[in-house]
Amino acid sequence: MADDLGYADVGFNGCQDIPTPNIDSIAKNGTVCSNAIVTFPVCGPSRAGFITGRYEQRFGFVGNPPHDPEDRNAGVPKSEMNIAESLKQVGYKTGIIGKWHLGLHREEHHPLKRGFDEFYGHLGGGSKYLPEDLTIQDCYTAEPWQSYSCWIHRNYEPVQITQYLTDEFSKEALRFVDASKDNPFFLFLSYNAPHSPLQATEKYLSRFPHIEDPKRKIYAAMVSALDDGVGQLLARLKELNLEENTILFFLSDNGGIEEKSHSDNGPLRGQKGQIWEGGIRVPFAVQWKGVIPKGEIFEKAVTSLDIFATISELSKSPFHPNKPLDGVHLIPYLTGKIQEEPHPNLYMRMHTSNRKMVRSGSLKYVVPGKNQSAELYDLKKDLGESKNLASQMPETLELLKAKYNRWSKDLKDPIFLGNWERQQLLKKKKLLEKNGNIGMKSDPLQKSSLSKNQSLKP
Ligand code: CA
Repeated sequence: MADDLGYADVGFNGCQDIPTPNIDSIAKNGTVCSNAIVTFPVCGPSRAGFITGRYEQRFGFVGNPPHDPEDRNAGVPKSEMNIAESLKQVGYKTGIIGKWHLGLHREEHHPLKRGFDEFYGHLGGGSKYLPEDLTIQDCYTAEPWQSYSCWIHRNYEPVQITQYLTDEFSKEALRFVDASKDNPFFLFLSYNAPHSPLQATEKYLSRFPHIEDPKRKIYAAMVSALDDGVGQLLARLKELNLEENTILFFLSDNGGIEEKSHSDNGPLRGQKGQIWEGGIRVPFAVQWKGVIPKGEIFEKAVTSLDIFATISELSKSPFHPNKPLDGVHLIPYLTGKIQEEPHPNLYMRMHTSNRKMVRSGSLKYVVPGKNQSAELYDLKKDLGESKNLASQMPETLELLKAKYNRWSKDLKDPIFLGNWERQQLLKKKKLLEKNGNIGMKSDPLQKSSLSKNQSLKP
C-alpha cells in the first residue's frame, strides 16, 4: 500500500514523468483494476476499512486517530476482526512494515495486539524520512506535533534507522519474506511514501533532472524509491520460487493531494480528503501468476474491501460470523468466470462533513457537504464529474438516495474524536480562554472518549 499516491502517478495509469517499472510489472503480470475505490478519502478510515474488510462507518472509525496513547477508543474496536487476526487462525505468519495509523493505545491497538506477529514502522499517520530528523526516542511521551519525528519501532522497541525510511522499509520487507518463506505468510507492506513531508535523497532526486517543479521533483523521487522497494520484493519472491504461490495487491490508501505534494490524479476531479473520484479512486493492480490474467484491465468497480474477502476465501480464514465482509472474492471476476458487476452498489459516508455517496454502475450520487443538494454524475461519460445530471434524472436521484438511506441506517456515529475535530476544539478552547470566557461547561477535549451512541457535533 502506498500513501496518498495520485491515480495517475504510476506508469500503468499513464504517468509520463515518473517511471515506475516495478509497480508496472505487477500490472503487466497481473490485472489493473482501473475503477477501484477506497472507503474514505483519508488515511486512517481507509485503512480501517481495508484491514477489516468492512465499511469502517459501520464501527464509527470515521476520522484519523489522534496522537493520544491514552485514548482507548481511537482505533479499530476489538469486536472487529482484521485480516491478520483472521489469517493467524489458519497458520499464517503475519507482519506489518511501515505505517499503522490504526490507534496508539498500547494495549488496545498496537499491531502486536491486533494479530500481527511482527511490526517494524511508525504507529501514527506519517514520519519524516531522513535518519537525522528522527530525534525523539519515545513516541508515547511525544507531543502530537512531534509525532513525525519519532523513532521507528521494531515491535515495542524504538530503534534508530540508518538510511532513508522508504529504503529501510524495503529492506525489512525482504528480511520478513526470507524469515517467513517456509510458512504461509501475510505481509502488509504499508509504505508511508509518498505522504508528506516531501523528502528524498540525492540517489532518487538525481533521477529527475527533467522535472523542473521542485515539489514534483521530490515527490517523483519518493515514488521512485517506493518503486525500487517493490522491485526488490518482487525479485526476492522470484528467487525464492514463491511467485506462483503468492497473491500481490498494489494500491494507494487514498488519492493524491495535488495542491500540496504536486501529485497527479489525472482526469479525476478533486483530491485527498474529498468525496470526488480524485479522493477515492486509486491505482490498483493484482498479480497472481498462473491464475489472474496477465496485462488485462478490469473496468468494473472494485473496492479495497475486496482484499480481505479474497484472501479469506483463498486461505479459508474466518471472519466474524455476525459481521459479514463487505467485499467480494475477486478472482472469479478477474478471470471472467463471473461476468456480473462485483458491486452493484458502493457507498460512503463522511460523517463530520456530512458528505454522502452511492456508486451504482456508472452512476454516482453525491451529496458534497452540509446543506448541499444531491448531485448525479455518469462516470462512464463524464469521469471528471463536471455535468450534474440531478435535474435531468430526478427519479434516478431518488432511487439512489433511497439506497443510501437503507445502507446508512446501520452505521455508527464516531467512536472517537478525529485529529481534525480535536484541533478544531483545541482552537476553540484556546480562543475562549484568551477572551477570558470560561463559560464552557466541560472541557471539549474530554469528548474524545465518546460512548457508542453519543453523537459528535463539533
Ligand atoms: Ca493516505
